[in-house]
Amino acid sequence: MPLDLALTEAERERILAKAAHFAPPPNLLPDGRRDLVGLSREELAEAVAEAGEKPFRAKQLWHWIYHQGVTDFSRMSSIARPLQEKLAENFVIGRPEVAVDQLSSDETRKFLFQFRDSQSVETVYIPDPVEDRGAVCISSQVGCTLSCRFCHTGTQRLARNLSPAEIVGQFMAVRDAYGEWPSPKGETPRLLSTIVLMGMGEPLYNYENVAQAMKIVMDNEGIGLSRRRITLSTSGVVPMMDRAGAELGVNLAVSLHAVRDDLRDELVPLNRKYPIKELIAACRRYPAASNARRITFEYVMLKGINDSETDARALVYLLAGLPAKVNLIPFNPWPGSTYETSTPAAIKKFAEIVLAAGYSSPVRTPRGQDILAACGQLKSQNA
Ligand code: SAH
Ligand code: SF4
Repeated sequence: MPLDLALTEAERERILAKAAHFAPPPNLLPDGRRDLVGLSREELAEAVAEAGEKPFRAKQLWHWIYHQGVTDFSRMSSIARPLQEKLAENFVIGRPEVAVDQLSSDETRKFLFQFRDSQSVETVYIPDPVEDRGAVCISSQVGCTLSCRFCHTGTQRLARNLSPAEIVGQFMAVRDAYGEWPSPKGETPRLLSTIVLMGMGEPLYNYENVAQAMKIVMDNEGIGLSRRRITLSTSGVVPMMDRAGAELGVNLAVSLHAVRDDLRDELVPLNRKYPIKELIAACRRYPAASNARRITFEYVMLKGINDSETDARALVYLLAGLPAKVNLIPFNPWPGSTYETSTPAAIKKFAEIVLAAGYSSPVRTPRGQDILAACGQLKSQNA
């Protein structure tokens, strides 16, 4: 194996081993019943076999849990009453508890979900202002180990990783809130039409659990959301990017925010480990990227820090040849933050330069600011 590949492999192992230190608690109730949500198809089949039931029951359960969205075994009409009762004695179909549910004046809705060990995360539903569709912004960790200088989550230490059940459970609980069950089929419009892994935490530092959750969400006999409707945002965990691309094939968003290593080292400290050159090389290798499925480069606009015309030109130069688009995010302040948002004129000029070079450069309208639900404002309650 060439040395650099061996190093990447070793680094990947190190990241996965570290993730295990922050493993979520087992998905059990105090009375010993097991939560079926979040199990892979294989794990569900094992649980069913352990309970002494035939394999086809796993397929039925999958349908009831992820297609119909039921949480009560007694509503599973294809299963006879005695078996419903036996299942209810051994298992539950759980949801995170809604601790807070806030609606913004622009219809953005923020939930604080609490888990059984009383850790909590925020999840945001962002409806399209015109069409019947919207994005669910999902968290992957309670807190974050990285401490990007402009991010509220970054001020909160990592408490732990979320389990597959807790990740997919955020989506299912928002579905409950909008009554969107059974799962719409095919091209039927969906209120919850896309998932963005842009909530709290770094998804590629909790890769295994995120991957299991996304495989559940993408399964055609359940929620059935296509990989094209899922976007994973990373601050640049280079060794895990190839794996995510190969195994999940979801859309990639990269939190770039600066075009020079000295500045990015400061804003996104992970850059000291995986500098811009390596990050861009990983983007060039990303298998799911194409002209139809561009990589999104997120760029938070910080007044006087990274928003000059020179920065815009250097950005275009950096992205040359990549199927990319640039998402300009006006900085969203939070209590205690030190940066300022770039002026509208600076953002406009920056966007024009990027666009003139052939990259789409939408400016992300802040949503849900009145309830602190915009990008980078999320924080759990007990920290
Ligand atoms: N940890 C992942 C995903 C979560 S953050 C990541 O960093 O990519 C989602 C996006 O919001 C990232 O691009 C992040 O850099 C950006 N962001 C964080 N704080 C922000 C703030 N205060 N204002 C605007 N965007 C912010
Ligand atoms: Fe963590 Fe992303 Fe916030 Fe950085 S921007 S601290 S990686 S959540």
